[in-house]
Amino acid sequence: MGVIARYREHLPVGPATPEIDLQEGSTPLVPSRNIGKALGLKNLYFKYEGLNPTGSFKDRGMVVAVAKALEAGSRVLMCASTGNTSASMAAYAARAGVRAIVVVPSGEIAMNKLSQALMYGAKVIALKGNFDTALETVRDLTSRYNVALMNSVNPNRLEGQKTAAFEIVDVLGDAPDYLILPVGNAGNITAYWKGFREYHAAGRSTRLPRMVGAQAEGAAPIVSGHPVAHPKTVASAIRIGNPASWEGATSARDESGGMIAAVTDTEILQAQVQLASSEGLFAEPASAAPLALLFRLVREGKIAKDAITVVVLTGSGLKDPDAALKNVEPPIELDGDARTLAKVLKL
Ligand SMILES: *Cc1c(COP(=O)(O)O)cnc(C)c1O
Repeated sequence: MGVIARYREHLPVGPATPEIDLQEGSTPLVPSRNIGKALGLKNLYFKYEGLNPTGSFKDRGMVVAVAKALEAGSRVLMCASTGNTSASMAAYAARAGVRAIVVVPSGEIAMNKLSQALMYGAKVIALKGNFDTALETVRDLTSRYNVALMNSVNPNRLEGQKTAAFEIVDVLGDAPDYLILPVGNAGNITAYWKGFREYHAAGRSTRLPRMVGAQAEGAAPIVSGHPVAHPKTVASAIRIGNPASWEGATSARDESGGMIAAVTDTEILQAQVQLASSEGLFAEPASAAPLALLFRLVREGKIAKDAITVVVLTGSGLKDPDAALKNVEPPIELDGDARTLAKVLKL
């Protein structure tokens, strides 16, 4: 079952909305076995969104946005994206049998990131200019032609993404004390907060979590309070200088009594390795930012030991293995028999 079927009564869908899915959502809420113990936290969980069909939480929102576009009669979907949004859009377009067009800035075309979109059959256009130019052109075109705009300014994306908050409450029986997640364009923190509030209003939970957002130090507009002209970080999914849902993020932070803070790339990559090697969970760098922030908050004594804390692992580590591999030992080259091998391994 996908998120539309599972949470239909909480979503802007009706009898005329086609029910498409790739069985997205229903991702595991994995209890920590080792990191929680090391930090002295009794109730630490990871919401493992990398297990969505295209490897990130983007699928939750995309399935709703594509269904609504189909309902409105669109046969062509378009977005400006080099990453997880394009992968997700292309997959659901393939599923629904409609055209997908991805526009990327020509100088910044990274084939490994576009490999999913290309495999799913999207047409990829490398447009001269930077990302802002690409997005502006896509917005202009979609306002003139019957082509659906699938970037996160499409409100149906956030509607679908809020289902992750529902799932957490459904599993825990109530909202957690802390929800910690990465913040890029800030759509996801906005969507989670909406989801928690709606479930609370519907009597499905007795409380609301504190919303804690992690940005990367080189791309931390919300933390610094002004847009960043040239955002820089290893965590490409949160390399955003002027978030589309800026106000949604600050509302979530302020209404929930939470915070948004920045972590360094070094902290991010260390947290990523620690997560993989001590929990068996491989997440992309952006997903490790909230864990890096949690480490710091625990060090500073800001999280109670018995607090129920959920860290959202937004995307799969397989999305960007190059970034991760800089921090692990390379394979050992060896020419020898079992005895030599045993010696090298100190068995
Ligand atoms: C899109 C994305 C983010 C950032 O989410 P926003 O809604 O832009 O704040 C973080 N991690 C991953 C893996 C993503 O794909």
